[in-house]
Amino acid sequence: MSTPTGFMEYSRQIQAERNPAERVLDWKEFHLHLTEEEMRTQASRCMDCGTPYCHTGMELASGTSGCPVNNLIPEWNHLVYRGLWQEALERLHATNNFPEFTGRVCPAPCEGSCTVGLIGEPVTIKSIEEEIIERGFREGWVTAKPPQRRTGKRVAVVGSGPAGLACADQLNQAGHSVTVYERDDRIGGLLTYGIPTMKLDKEVVERRVRLLAEEGIRFVTNIEIGTDIPARELVDQYDAVVLCAGATKPREFVIEGSDLEGIHYAMDYLNGTIKSYLNSNLEDGCYVSAAGKDVIVIGGGDTGTDCVATALRHGCRSITQFGTRPQAPAVRDEAANPWPQFPNVYTLDYAHQEAKALYGRDPREFSIMTTRFVGDEEGRVKELHTVQIERIVDEQGRKTYRPIPGTERVYPAQLVIVAVGFDGPEATLIEQLGLDTDRHTNVKAVNGKYGTKISNVFAAGDMRRGQSLVVWAIHEGREAAREVDMYLANHLSSCPE
Ligand SMILES: Cc1cc2nc3c(=O)[nH]c(=O)nc-3n(C[C@H](O)[C@H](O)[C@H](O)COP(=O)(O)OP(=O)(O)OC[C@H]3O[C@@H](n4cnc5c(N)ncnc54)[C@H](O)[C@@H]3O)c2cc1C
Ligand code: SF4
Repeated sequence: MSTPTGFMEYSRQIQAERNPAERVLDWKEFHLHLTEEEMRTQASRCMDCGTPYCHTGMELASGTSGCPVNNLIPEWNHLVYRGLWQEALERLHATNNFPEFTGRVCPAPCEGSCTVGLIGEPVTIKSIEEEIIERGFREGWVTAKPPQRRTGKRVAVVGSGPAGLACADQLNQAGHSVTVYERDDRIGGLLTYGIPTMKLDKEVVERRVRLLAEEGIRFVTNIEIGTDIPARELVDQYDAVVLCAGATKPREFVIEGSDLEGIHYAMDYLNGTIKSYLNSNLEDGCYVSAAGKDVIVIGGGDTGTDCVATALRHGCRSITQFGTRPQAPAVRDEAANPWPQFPNVYTLDYAHQEAKALYGRDPREFSIMTTRFVGDEEGRVKELHTVQIERIVDEQGRKTYRPIPGTERVYPAQLVIVAVGFDGPEATLIEQLGLDTDRHTNVKAVNGKYGTKISNVFAAGDMRRGQSLVVWAIHEGREAAREVDMYLANHLSSCPE
């Protein structure tokens, strides 16, 4: 334990952020960093409790509680408190391949389940995680470590998001020869094309990909398995194949007027901007711009929030984000949402702070449903018709929404971004291999085993569990790698190179 009474002596302190009104003028990361002294003080608040819920990831009440990669949080907090940063880095890397990603974008379910949070403010965990790994890079402690010996076995990983990268890293370290196939022009999956640059600088992704390549992983971009190479051919050519192709098929939103010009799905909108920014600092104009427009984002989740932040940086005239859920309570509802569940409380995410700084209000409208779009004479969207809704339980006992008469309203909009969720993975790979799917159309692979009905084909990450979190993707990539390694050891004779 760092200090037995640290949590009583010191208050929680988290990373400061750049001024919201200033940071919307660029695309750089918005987090600032605590000083070394502040980090060590924060680490001293960790009690090293007997049953640390923070490092045991589980799903509770449809949310995540604790750390899905089982980061050894009390251990590295103690090491940070003592100033032993390199030792802390070793403990961190023992469970998490990419703490520089989770330290930036993880919603930190570990903090929601921290024991100190039962009686006060939880320990600052995520910021310490980021600092441990960033210090590791600065000090030159993070270097390429190719495996000492090769097994002669070849594994193909389809998809280069966090699941594919974690899986490839683990298998490569075990000595297998790994090739990662990515259909996009850059490696990283949603880390690159999805999560905006202000949350995760793409150089951070490229820095890790360079290391993995130095360690021997082969990356092949601009190749779509199932189109450029038939999926069956890949399965025949490699000793094992791991499908980590994500689950980004957009949920359709079809209502009157939804085919009007100016209505876009969130991923097209976000990715166009990221690609144009990386290719030309937005000078090629190959993206949908919100500049000078009244923008409405339909969807109250995190993807919608990233669209809000992107539209603000484009220079939109106004921004509104619609969500069907009611506004969350200011403090945790202890009866409905007890510790250690992820706390469902009203907060302003980074994009909401920015909108508030520019326009003086939280851009979100809660409990609202769009009923139709109306266009102008040229077929471009010009307004949205809405109604307020309330949650009810219908006669069959299902939770549903009911419109509240008299609450109809019209919102002007020249750009609408639809971020109402995802409908599982794309069908091509699944159909070509004849794989089974679950009721959400994700690839069916036994939880904890990752094997599909084809003995040498495995599935992990969002493709198996549905749209989720980076930290769950890393967890699944690591676990699937363990299963593949056991499969290779048990089913194929060894042939060292
Ligand atoms: C806009 C957005 C913001 C998000 N923000 C956060 C956040 O802040 N924090 C967080 O924890 N999570 C966030 N998430 C969720 C998180 O990014 C995902 O859960 C995670 O990336 C899933 O990892 P994955 O490796 O399973 O799949 P992906 O990251 O989706 O990677 C799949 C890859 O497979 C490739 N691929 C697909 N089909 C083929 C094929 N046939 N051949 C070759 N390649 C193929 C795709 O191009 C893609 O690169 C966000 C998601 C979105 C959409
Ligand atoms: S990966 Fe996420 S849950 Fe785990 S310690 Fe880091 S911030 Fe917490």
